[in-house]
Amino acid sequence: MTSASKPDWHAADRAYQAHHGGCAQCKAAGIAPNRHERCDEGAALWATYEQAGDPPHFTWLQIERMRRERLQQRQQHRGYR
Ligand SMILES: [Zn+2]
Repeated sequence: MTSASKPDWHAADRAYQAHHGGCAQCKAAGIAPNRHERCDEGAALWATYEQAGDPPHFTWLQIERMRRERLQQRQQHRGYR
């Protein structure tokens, strides 16, 4: 038993994107994760998505993390501009 228990990344991606595209709550959570939470269905799809691991061809999961970190840094540095 190695990767058999891991969710298929493409399936998880497609399922989440399909839900995200039609769910205002999950869209809001994607834009402002600190202020909004994904709905139950979106949260479950997102959990599966994260279990599926790193995207094989592009890394928007990591990009979202970086964007969140950058946003926090920008908020800290806002006084400079
Ligand atoms: Zn949702």
